[in-house]
Amino acid sequence: SRPLKEEDPEIYDLIEKEKNRQWRGLELIASENFTSAAVMEANGSCLTNKYSEGLPGARYYGGNEHIDVLETLCQRRALEAFRLSADDWSCNVQPYSGSTANFAALLAMMKPNDRLMGLDLPSGGHLTHGYQTAKKKISSTSIFWQSMPYQVDPETGYVDYDRLEDHASVFRPNVLIMGGSAYPRDWDYKRMRAIADKHGAYLMMDMAHISGLIAAEVQGNAFDYCDVVTTTTHKTLRGPRAGIIFFRKAQSGERLADLESRVNFAVFPSTQGGPHNNTIAGIAVAMKQACTPEFKQYAKQVIANMQACAARLSELGYTLVTGGTDNHCCLWDVRPQGLTGSKLEKLFELISVTINKNSVPKDTSALSPGGVRLGACALTSRGFLESDFVEVADLLHEAVQATLELQKQTGKKLKDFEAGLANYSPSLQELKNKA
Ligand code: PLP
Repeated sequence: SRPLKEEDPEIYDLIEKEKNRQWRGLELIASENFTSAAVMEANGSCLTNKYSEGLPGARYYGGNEHIDVLETLCQRRALEAFRLSADDWSCNVQPYSGSTANFAALLAMMKPNDRLMGLDLPSGGHLTHGYQTAKKKISSTSIFWQSMPYQVDPETGYVDYDRLEDHASVFRPNVLIMGGSAYPRDWDYKRMRAIADKHGAYLMMDMAHISGLIAAEVQGNAFDYCDVVTTTTHKTLRGPRAGIIFFRKAQSGERLADLESRVNFAVFPSTQGGPHNNTIAGIAVAMKQACTPEFKQYAKQVIANMQACAARLSELGYTLVTGGTDNHCCLWDVRPQGLTGSKLEKLFELISVTINKNSVPKDTSALSPGGVRLGACALTSRGFLESDFVEVADLLHEAVQATLELQKQTGKKLKDFEAGLANYSPSLQELKNKA
């Protein structure tokens, strides 16, 4: 067969352009990272050809002798990466993504119409933690189960554990979900375990954003307190795009009985078909890498970098939700500048800086949120250090100044602002060259 460049130049060209975009720009999206060449090689291998429904040693297809070894190795490495004993914990490495991992994990723990509590999306939670609005149930996790999200304290930006505890005593959740997509602080696992125990609820942590930091022991350890821990593998963990469900093995008591078979059944056949073996190979490589001293150093650097960036932004007079960060991300409230996250996202994109708009506490419009989320994992993979992140903060500051200037000329509307960008290209070009 011919190489991609000859077989399909159109797709080849798009990949080259995207590669160029990823390397030319400053990637500050908190959920993205640059995985290694070794992970990509595994992910792009012939393993994509193979069907292997079932689990190692119990497949619905022949020819799985190597795949069985691969999946077992991947599971073992995943446990090792989080220092877990196979006597106490096991994991399923087949979920196609974080969302399917969460759905399957919840399916394993709840019956239809059971009750769950997760961090609300506008407070920094993820869709799959039971997201719904006043008008509509949005996520399948709020359609098939009853959801009562908890929030951050609008004044401090920290999870309001007292209010959560009060609400839980009325709602009596079957599952309490920790973790989020835009929460810059570490979690109070002990408190959450105590709340879950009051109601005989499962405690689940979705550590997707911070799993690399937990692996490197630079954040609190979810495994000390939770029954189930889910993760994506492609954020701070720096693997291919996928999900993993870790679950505690039954010691005693009804809650954990059969959890292993319930989780495995929830993944296949309840919600998925054949595992993506190429991805599982990529995860296995990433897990091996996550056990190295270099990875520990990387994770430490991620936090140091985001803290340096946050400190510089504060020094420049900007407002950060919770006043700073414990992890790889920070939430920047741009309302005091009279800006919206949407405007900044647009402007930053034009100067090859990628971030995403994000809601911040007390936001009035979900469509045009008042903040942006910044993350340090991708640029840290490119070797950025604290001083580089101070420069990044300075560049963002210049871009904000440019945005304010342009807003003065075009008024408040995003459309007019976007139209105005065309006339602004010389100054943008200057900033772009800097980036
Ligand atoms: N959980 C959290 C906390 C996330 O932030 C995300 C994605 O950003 C997911 C789950 C979903 O992962 P995926 O996009 O792989 O489905």
